[in-house]
Amino acid sequence: MTIPGQLNVSPRLLLGPGPSDVHPRVLTVMATPLIGHFDPQFLVLMGETQEMLRQALFTKNSLTFPVSGTGMSGMETCLMNLIEPGDKVVVCLNGFFSLRMADIAGRNGAQLTTIESPWGQIFELDRLREVLTKVKPKVLAIVQAETSTGAWQPLEGLGKLCHENDTLLVVDAVTSLGCVPVHMDAWEIDAIYSCTQKGLSCPPGLAPVSFSQRAVDAINRRKTKVPSWYLDRTLVQRYWTEDRFYHHTAPITMTYAIREGLRIVLEEGLQARWDRHMVNHRALKAGLTALGIEYSAAEGHQLPQLNAVKVPAGADDVPFRKMLLTEFGIEIGGGLGDFKGKVWRIGLIGHNSRPSSVLLVLAALEKCLLSQSVKIPAGAGVAAAERAYAGK
Ligand code: PLP
Repeated sequence: MTIPGQLNVSPRLLLGPGPSDVHPRVLTVMATPLIGHFDPQFLVLMGETQEMLRQALFTKNSLTFPVSGTGMSGMETCLMNLIEPGDKVVVCLNGFFSLRMADIAGRNGAQLTTIESPWGQIFELDRLREVLTKVKPKVLAIVQAETSTGAWQPLEGLGKLCHENDTLLVVDAVTSLGCVPVHMDAWEIDAIYSCTQKGLSCPPGLAPVSFSQRAVDAINRRKTKVPSWYLDRTLVQRYWTEDRFYHHTAPITMTYAIREGLRIVLEEGLQARWDRHMVNHRALKAGLTALGIEYSAAEGHQLPQLNAVKVPAGADDVPFRKMLLTEFGIEIGGGLGDFKGKVWRIGLIGHNSRPSSVLLVLAALEKCLLSQSVKIPAGAGVAAAERAYAGK
């Protein structure tokens, strides 16, 4: 076999559902020489990372750390540690990722109840109250930002409701952390997981998780061992929160990355960051609307960072996205599951939520739509976005 040539990757603007572009400052720190995972310097970095994660999640939970793995490892960590065979679990299904939560709960022997909302819709508190009082589950699991549909699930009041029914609330914040508010303590969330490759503008590789004291107590009452050795919180926490006892070799470079990503988030300020995501979303939405493109999530519940829109009539999904990628270097996402071929997912996530992304993607969409002979008012998208930025 001949040795492949030197790595030569064309740069892209990642405006899909994630990964999103890595912040240049994060890329820079990732070139820092490796140190050992028990180096006193690294132990300091671990502590700083945990403290900044707590700030970003608005929590005081001591059991807050990044799991070595992508968002899915966070999902498995939260669910596996809390669920024992026979435990009653409710999973709220309204998209691709909630289906995975149900799968994991089932694999762990849960007595599973699912409630469904159509893709793109959310769950109202009354409906959740009804299922909680009827089933009295140990765990209720829900996705805050459903990346497959662009739906934004409100969480205010849900934790309190769960606790009135002796239920633990597990939240998927993979696409929400660093983009929209996540108030872990105020909303009484018991276990949460996220990722690094979206709102924190890092590469994929870590999954921040946090457990409330209620969740920790529930884990301590387990009668059976957590089936996964790697994700067993009781083992891994010794490395992250107790005596730094060896569990596995920490991904040092990714720890540099998340630490820098979190520094950037906190320097900007969470509120300013959420506001920025909203301003850019509004401009994009104005532009898309001017082109006659509709959102797939319900009005009033659309995520600012993940704009899932219906593929316009006459557009040919796969060749369209290929044209966007080859002619403009812009990646947007196609539909997942039930939405395959029907939806485009345009991410304005973290560092990429900025006017230049909005104006570039609108101009490129217009050009590609016209190339596919889709009838649109040429130039209207960019003009509408500019008007939105100007507050007109
Ligand atoms: N949950 C949601 C809502 C997601 O959007 C994703 C990935 O996009 C995941 C879970 C899984 O994360 P990962 O692909 O990082 O494992």
